[in-house]
Amino acid sequence: MEKIITIDNLIFEYSKSEGSENIRALDCVNLEIDEGSFTAIIGKNGSGKSTLAKNLNGLLIPTEGTVFVDGYDTADDDSIWEIRQRAGMVFQNPDNQLVSSIVEDDVAFGPENLGIEPEEIRRRVDKALEDVNMGQYKHKAPHLLSGGQKQRIAIAGVVAMKPKIIIFDEPTAMLDPKGRKEIMKIIMELHKEGITVILITHFMEEVIDADRVIIMHEGKVLLDGTPYEVFSQADVIRKANLDVPIMVELGDRLRKEGLDIPQGIIKEEEMVKALCQLKSQN
Ligand code: ADP
Ligand code: MG
Repeated sequence: MEKIITIDNLIFEYSKSEGSENIRALDCVNLEIDEGSFTAIIGKNGSGKSTLAKNLNGLLIPTEGTVFVDGYDTADDDSIWEIRQRAGMVFQNPDNQLVSSIVEDDVAFGPENLGIEPEEIRRRVDKALEDVNMGQYKHKAPHLLSGGQKQRIAIAGVVAMKPKIIIFDEPTAMLDPKGRKEIMKIIMELHKEGITVILITHFMEEVIDADRVIIMHEGKVLLDGTPYEVFSQADVIRKANLDVPIMVELGDRLRKEGLDIPQGIIKEEEMVKALCQLKSQN
């Protein structure tokens, strides 16, 4: 499969004021991301997730090592527009991402900066707003919308640039459960349309549908694999002070009670199946 992102020995340090030491936020990260894949990244606060995200679209440049996005080196000044167009980012707080007083202008902002024809921009804006189910809000003022609706507008703004990759940095952290579900549904649909999705989140239920889960810990990749592979190592995850999906927790408890439940069950349906199988054996 085509690698759309290649990260080699990435070290990133934030420089501190004079006298104090630099902060090493990423410590030798090596990753390759398949085109069209859906990768979830989890890790406790300060583990380097946002720093990694910003290194994926040239908002931050490696201190050491390299990041290639669709063949472009993020450290190469001449590539920055190519990279920004290919790798869009959605952040936690929608209020910080909206720039205009009318929804459609906001969504048009990115493509306008790319110098795209007005006719094409209009088409893209309409399509992007439909993709996030916000078509009827086209002429509304963003500040009158709910947090979830604002986040959908922010996503539309990124979608309108036709990126190959979208990096979501805790996009649902400020939303209520209903808003979270809507955003997740949109992310899944964008993935189905072929966009490479990288989702940073601390909600376990948002991780279990990913192709791949990466756990960051102290600037390093602690675990990397399918959700099944990663959550089979519940002890390692707990040592990193992270929660595990509720079904993994339940599986552990049932095993302690002596039930023969296989490791790595992460979804409700799988647990039901395992329990039914036990029942039929008895
Ligand atoms: P996460 O997103 O996983 O919470 P971050 O990437 O934001 O982690 O932070 C990783 C480390 O880098 C933390 O120790 C954090 O304090 C530090 N850090 C993040 N942003 C800055 C910054 N702008 N200046 C200095 N240190 C920073
Ligand atoms: Mg963060």
